[in-house]
Amino acid sequence: QARSYAAIAKNDRVAKFLGTKGNDGKYTVTLIEGDGIGPEIAQSVKDIFTAAKVPIKWESVDVTPQLKDGRTVIPQEAIDSVTRNYVALKGPLATPIGKGHVSLNLTLRRTFNLFANVRPCKSIAGYQTPYDNVDTVLIRENTEGEYSGIEHIVVDGVVQSIKLITRAASERVLRFAFQYALEVGKPKVRVVHKATIMKMSDGLFLRTARDVAKEFPQIEFDAELLDNTCLKMVTDPAPYADLVLVMPNLYGDILSDLCAGLIGGLGLTPSGNIGDECSIFEAVHGSAPDIAGKGLANPTALLLSSIMMLQHMGLHQHAEQIQTAIFKVLAEGKTITGDLGGKAKTHEYAGAVIKAL
Ligand code: NAD
Repeated sequence: QARSYAAIAKNDRVAKFLGTKGNDGKYTVTLIEGDGIGPEIAQSVKDIFTAAKVPIKWESVDVTPQLKDGRTVIPQEAIDSVTRNYVALKGPLATPIGKGHVSLNLTLRRTFNLFANVRPCKSIAGYQTPYDNVDTVLIRENTEGEYSGIEHIVVDGVVQSIKLITRAASERVLRFAFQYALEVGKPKVRVVHKATIMKMSDGLFLRTARDVAKEFPQIEFDAELLDNTCLKMVTDPAPYADLVLVMPNLYGDILSDLCAGLIGGLGLTPSGNIGDECSIFEAVHGSAPDIAGKGLANPTALLLSSIMMLQHMGLHQHAEQIQTAIFKVLAEGKTITGDLGGKAKTHEYAGAVIKAL
């Protein structure tokens, strides 16, 4: 029954995009270029998609935050665009530290109820790292946990942040993790937690996982403590290739950067923020202000995110073609960006990918 549920969910999802296909045969996708290196890496995606004749029309929107009744809100035009197109590709958005408007990234996730953050991380053949066999998929609860934004000053010098875990949000992301495992053919789901210490919050997440696991008898299930996962992952990542890891928000944010480090850094790791109504795909990395505007950024992470987006839309052939070209250029190692030890500028790397299509 679970398999058919996953299949139905997938078909419904893919069918949605047919509605956004215009008379010219193209699908409309919202593009949020973002801050810092965002516009540079978005340009690479646009150039490569054009060269690969991907049937997509970009609808660029501005998400500069607006304050409304003391709350950060996203311009209505951007909300309408994502809602209409069901899917968006997003560059990084800078967040002021410790003050100012709340994270726009969080606002987007909340506005569209993007409850699951999928972060695959796979070694790139030919690119030398300590391990060549990393193949992890991490699913992060994306709406609550430590990132609920509920913080207050108790007295001067004492603050309190609330970690919120609900059965409803846990159930939703856990069910998604099992469905995802079915869809991509991974035999096992593992919950990563600290229920030994956070007995109530992580305890609820873990108990909910045990309940949801019963709905998916064809998928194995187990659980592991976060610190143990970190140690084992950097010692031998191979056993994690058969798993879909699922966890509360903060753990997923941190553990996914650890995984990125294992394959060569943040320039290489994509992600998808998945909701019932729409989904937003983005690189794991931020706006990289230290290299912005210099043409040095590696666009691979955003490119791989756009490939996840194509797969999500059912455009598998185009996804495959572009991915093969990217991996070929990275494996050759002649035209790679500085973060990977090369000398190529962003546009030179994109040009090499276009040649390899
Ligand atoms: P960062 O990911 O922007 O940069 C960390 C380091 O990695 C920097 O040295 C940077 O140059 C390098 N790097 C990142 N992406 C790269 C790429 N594509 N190519 C080459 N090098 C790359 O993290 P940060 O400096 O901590 O954050 C900068 C800003 O980004 C902050 O305002 C933060 O809030 C925001 N941020 C946004 C998102 C998002 O939009 N989803 C995610 C993380 C951070």
